[in-house]
Amino acid sequence: MKITAAIVPEKFAPFVIDTVELADPRPDEVLVRVIASGMCHTDLHGRDGYFAIPYPAVFGHEGGGIVEAVGSAVTRLAPGDHVVMAFPFCGHCPNCQAHMPAHCFDSRMLKSSGTRADGSTLMSKDGKPVYSAFFQQSSFGSFAIGNENWAVKVRKDAPVDQIGAFACGVQTGAGAVFNAIKPSPGESFAVFGVGGVGLSALMAAKLHGCDPIIAVDVHEHRLALARELGATHTINHAGRTDIVGAIRSITGYGARYTVETSAIPAVLREAIEALMPLGTCVLLGSARAGTEVSIDTPFLQNGRSIRGVIQGDSVPKEFLPLLADHIVAGRFPSEKMVTFYELADINRAAAESAAGTTIKPVLRMPK
Ligand SMILES: [Zn+2]
Ligand SMILES: [Zn+2]
Repeated sequence: MKITAAIVPEKFAPFVIDTVELADPRPDEVLVRVIASGMCHTDLHGRDGYFAIPYPAVFGHEGGGIVEAVGSAVTRLAPGDHVVMAFPFCGHCPNCQAHMPAHCFDSRMLKSSGTRADGSTLMSKDGKPVYSAFFQQSSFGSFAIGNENWAVKVRKDAPVDQIGAFACGVQTGAGAVFNAIKPSPGESFAVFGVGGVGLSALMAAKLHGCDPIIAVDVHEHRLALARELGATHTINHAGRTDIVGAIRSITGYGARYTVETSAIPAVLREAIEALMPLGTCVLLGSARAGTEVSIDTPFLQNGRSIRGVIQGDSVPKEFLPLLADHIVAGRFPSEKMVTFYELADINRAAAESAAGTTIKPVLRMPK
């Protein structure tokens, strides 16, 4: 079928809205009418050639929408279901078998080769391939092909134009708290960088009763939102060098948990040094290959640890419906960080996201 999609014609080029041909769903796939898709920095890494995906390509990996049709072998989804298209996984590697699909051995291939596992593309134009299947979905289009193994059904009273953003950014931040650190009420928590991922972690920390909750960022408007969403203290990093001291002065011995989302090595070091003995630093920031950080090794004694978490350590089929329950109950006001754009304004969304003026861009698809 013909769909409208945002195509990146070549590396670093702006997105172009065009018509492409979308394949029919295979037996285990579903056709999803995309209502809206979140935009995450990983999409911009894709546009800029960070992955080995050929061009032209269609990105987007936070698709939310309504199932339009299902393949012949699909049993868990039906037309009319509201779905979030979460991250793909193979289902049979040791980590998938251990119920940790976020750490699937094949996840990089499935997310960022631009094709299905067998090399086929989901989209084409004038008979030529359009590299799609980004995170096995390429959600920057009016329709997308999903797979029943990672397209997750969520309740219909959750806002269908926002559920897509759960797929990556929200799940990454909230899942780091729900699934990886599991804090107890009264434990101290500091988050470095309060973009969409950091604010999702912060809202989850608030839900768990963490206190104090400290937000660190360079944008005053983001810190103001962090306070509204539950930060007890905010620190504007701009021009300051005493961030670790400031966190110690709030917490006494340092924070029990720190979450790093900026992917800046010097900030990761601060997030480590701000830990109390036995504290845990969770690394969420997505740095490019080759990025290194130096740490004071004696400081890691006293039981401090650093953990990398991807996709919130989530099992999406279990975690996304839970998150939807919290959102419908008003306990996770993720809508406060969302700015909507029409798909036609995707380049403005990308620029405002890169500049930090927009916290979580969500693109509404043409009808
Ligand atoms: Zn796997
Ligand atoms: Zn993402």
